Amino acid sequence: MTSFQELGLIDPILKALLAEGYTQPTPIQSQAIPLLLKKRDLLGCAQTGTGKTAAFAVPILQLMSAENREATTRPSIRCLILTPTRELAIQIGESFETYGKNLKFKTKVIYGGVKQGKQVDAIKNGIDILIATPGRLLDLMDQGHVDISRIHYFVLDEADRMLDMGFVHDVKRIISKLPHKRQSLFFSATMPPVIKKLADSILANPAKVEVTPVSSTAEKINQVIYFVDKENKTSLLMDILNDSKIERVLVFTRTKHGADKVTKHLAKNKIPTLAIHGNKSQNARQDALNKFKDKKIRVLIATDIAARGIDIDELTHVINFELPNIPESYVHRIGRTGRAGANGIAIGFCDAEEKAYLKDIQKLIGKEIPVISDHPYPLMKHDVVKASPKPQRPPRSQRAQGGSNASSNYKRSASKKSSTRR
Ligand code: AMP
Repeated sequence: MTSFQELGLIDPILKALLAEGYTQPTPIQSQAIPLLLKKRDLLGCAQTGTGKTAAFAVPILQLMSAENREATTRPSIRCLILTPTRELAIQIGESFETYGKNLKFKTKVIYGGVKQGKQVDAIKNGIDILIATPGRLLDLMDQGHVDISRIHYFVLDEADRMLDMGFVHDVKRIISKLPHKRQSLFFSATMPPVIKKLADSILANPAKVEVTPVSSTAEKINQVIYFVDKENKTSLLMDILNDSKIERVLVFTRTKHGADKVTKHLAKNKIPTLAIHGNKSQNARQDALNKFKDKKIRVLIATDIAARGIDIDELTHVINFELPNIPESYVHRIGRTGRAGANGIAIGFCDAEEKAYLKDIQKLIGKEIPVISDHPYPLMKHDVVKASPKPQRPPRSQRAQGGSNASSNYKRSASKKSSTRR
């Protein structure tokens, strides 16, 4: 097995990794780091939880530090990371700070939903590494506050989710402003044709690395399913939370409304809970996340988009209160637990309507999830599955076109069923 030393990393970075307790590179790190240090473009098929942030941040920091020694004039922003969500942007920012703590680079994270003043001031004062969500970056570029024409390193992170969230035009506009000569890295958990095409338009002769494909759910995650009627899900959740061994649990719902409902119910029952979703302010989301990380609250309720990429050490339990209608989301959700070698437990609640989602999920992960049938709220309304999917199906015309947005490939299962539910 390779060590970080064998990957040719410099001392200041090795020390920072050691201080973080990283003893061995993860597979994506041992594959990607040497290629990136050779200045290759990179196409990475990897989901969060594989150590992919360090796989790109570490070699970029090292290359930048070598440039620093050579450079006579210090250019402005040299590295741009584009990522779809604010939470992910903040986490990547923290990672750059951690791995680069013995180097003297200035990192700034920018995202929407907050006032731009402080972000603009920081950029004016000079930064080396910019981590941004697409909307806010374009805003500041349009206002003339950010110039990305002298970028040396460009990372497009979570490309599939970027498309899924409708950022494709923003991303393309940003790419059109990048200098031709640059090193580009492209990461996506899935590689449907539309993503591959986008990658081809950004990368030059890229090296390819692929780890833990989305279809092979991490073996170390212990997954189970409870069949339960929709109206009994909160009672079942309470029942499961009675187990004091469950120290911290991330609960997923499909909708913001669903997240709020569960939060209220748990709060009423004196279980400290907060929710993160798109309707919450950035501060409220970050506050909830910090309280959860600091173990001040036991339960965090999240929707898929808000939880994307969230990295919580020692998260042992994920509960899918509602199963996702996009099977890939299931893999992303359960990937919040069992990170970097830890064991995790993923519990899914499945009502009659969701049986079709479960089928898609099992098809994607290539195995049947064991069922826990011995519980106080067994499924009674088995027949809903026959009655309900029909009205949820989009009209035939829409299905034939595969939906109207660019992510229709990615959403293949959702378009077959309830794309209207999100
Ligand atoms: P990521 O896929 O970048 O979101 O990383 C997932 C988690 O793995 C984060 O908590 C990292 O701090 C952790 N991690 C990344 N690389 C290593 C490593 N080589 N050894 C131990 N933990 C790591």
